[in-house]
Amino acid sequence: MNTLLTALVIVLALLTGWLAWHYTRLRNGLEKFAQIIESTAAGDRPPESLPTDLPHLERISNAVHEFSSTFENQITTLDAERARLKATLTQITDGVLIVDSLGRIQMTNPAAEKLFSEGEPLEGKTVSVTLRHHQLIETWRKCQKTGLMQSEAVELPATRRMLQLIAIPDQHASGAILLVQDLTHLRRLETVRRDFISNVSHELRTPLASLKALTETLQEGALEDPTAAHRFLARIQTEVDALTQMATELLELSRIESGQVPLERRPITPASLLNAAADRMKTQAERAGLDLQVLPTPDLPAIRVDSPRMQQVLVNLIHNAVKFTEPGGSIQLSTHPEGVFIRFEVKDSGVGIPMDDLPRIFERFYRVDRSRTGGGTGLGLSIARHLVEAHGGRIWAESREGEGSTFYFTIPIDPA
Ligand code: ADP
Repeated sequence: MNTLLTALVIVLALLTGWLAWHYTRLRNGLEKFAQIIESTAAGDRPPESLPTDLPHLERISNAVHEFSSTFENQITTLDAERARLKATLTQITDGVLIVDSLGRIQMTNPAAEKLFSEGEPLEGKTVSVTLRHHQLIETWRKCQKTGLMQSEAVELPATRRMLQLIAIPDQHASGAILLVQDLTHLRRLETVRRDFISNVSHELRTPLASLKALTETLQEGALEDPTAAHRFLARIQTEVDALTQMATELLELSRIESGQVPLERRPITPASLLNAAADRMKTQAERAGLDLQVLPTPDLPAIRVDSPRMQQVLVNLIHNAVKFTEPGGSIQLSTHPEGVFIRFEVKDSGVGIPMDDLPRIFERFYRVDRSRTGGGTGLGLSIARHLVEAHGGRIWAESREGEGSTFYFTIPIDPA
């Protein structure tokens, strides 16, 4: 009996000891796993060797490794997608702002930073602070509230920029994606186009109205009176010539503006260019009772220009000088060195240009006083400006009313 009891006690003691040993191993193993899972959750990689000395611990250990590698793969995929999104956003020329449900900016692109912050990062700022325009902020709010796409175009009073905001609901993050397009340039082009069409129509109206009046007068009987008929026909011819000139100049201007006029540049000395233009205008100046002089200039380096086009610029300027100078006046042509440029000057002793008009005379159709233009179209200086700029130069004028005008333009010296 005693022996049996003793054996039982020994067995129980051994069992308790084994259980205690087993429990301690399990507890230590689990404790270690808890630490590893915690540090894995915090971003660390799990160690290569995990406790595997018990069957269950081995399964847990495999599961932790699998979980960790799946997690790592997902992070890598997310990182790659974020980088791809960033790269795409960088290429987009419209501003993009990705905003969370509270209106905090999560991601932007350089175009948005250029529009709203002179390159300073916008991430973390709010939509209201960034957009700073109540209509734009309201558009984002409406999108947020309704879950529907909204758009609005406004002109920013400070910069006079025309912006269009498109707010698209971001269903996944309950936020919004804001697309901002800068329409300033487009709007300006549209205005220029509209002004141009209205200018052309206006310019056509006067000669067409006189042509109509002249033909009607001829039809109503003037045809029977040969002297009057000749006079009317001569006026009809003048109007038709003016219309033809306008059509030619408009076509020329549009070809220059759209880059369809290839420049055939060849080296030429400034003096020979000036003399060629003066020769072409000599007779016209003489007929108008004007003294056209080419001032002697020192030997200047050659320039590389499309010679016929440059002569056209000079002829336009001399032609204006002839038109706007009273008989007995003078026109002086000269060339001067100016750094890496040659400066051409066309100076007249004519009527001059009022100060207010001076900055606008190079615009299409701009004429100071329509009554004294001598049938000009107002396109000559505009053509001259385009041709000079196409050669890499600049054109401008100085004048005082009643004291004559000087037109200047520069052309780069031929580097060869
Ligand atoms: P237009 O065909 O009328 O001459 P331009 O474009 O050549 O057109 O010139 C525009 C306007 O600039 C002219 O109508 C005229 O009012 C003014 N202008 C140009 N050149 C002179 C000048 N030398 N003297 C006075 N006014 C000038």
